[in-house]
Amino acid sequence: MSAMLDVSAALKNPGQGYAFEVSPEVEEMEVLGDLVRFENIVASGEFTGAEERVSIRGEVSAAVSSRCAKCLAPVTIELRAELNAVYARQSDPDDPDIYLFEGSKLDLTDAARDALLLELPYRFLCSEDCKGLCPHCGANLNLGACTCQEGLNVANPFSALKLIVQNDEEV
Ligand SMILES: [Zn+2]
Ligand SMILES: [Zn+2]
Repeated sequence: MSAMLDVSAALKNPGQGYAFEVSPEVEEMEVLGDLVRFENIVASGEFTGAEERVSIRGEVSAAVSSRCAKCLAPVTIELRAELNAVYARQSDPDDPDIYLFEGSKLDLTDAARDALLLELPYRFLCSEDCKGLCPHCGANLNLGACTCQEGLNVANPFSALKLIVQNDEEV
């Protein structure tokens, strides 16, 4: 489904609000080294024309998938962002946030993507208390404690004591 809005009526009737709902498609992208995928994007709200410009007001929602920053498991979150954008036929050096359009149709994809990116979490987590991976063997600690460090724990005074006792017995 496209994210094109026909704004010809809005440009002819400045100040009049027009409701819209579109489903932009945003390609998956790398964010801070992780692939992020956007699905089921819905942008809805109202647009208003004024002097060759169109103001968009509404919200955009999407199912956003990436991987847990700690255990690398796939994570999908529901993201909702405010959508406030201005489209114009010409760029304006005083207003670098303007999106451009030609003719009587504008493509909402860029504004929807930018709004979602602003709301992306700092990092994705499969759960608030994800235990992550064992730094030594890579086991997923959410599935249970790993045993890779058993017997190597020289920081534990009791295991050191046990070694001494064993050595004495051998003499
Ligand atoms: Zn996790
Ligand atoms: Zn381990």
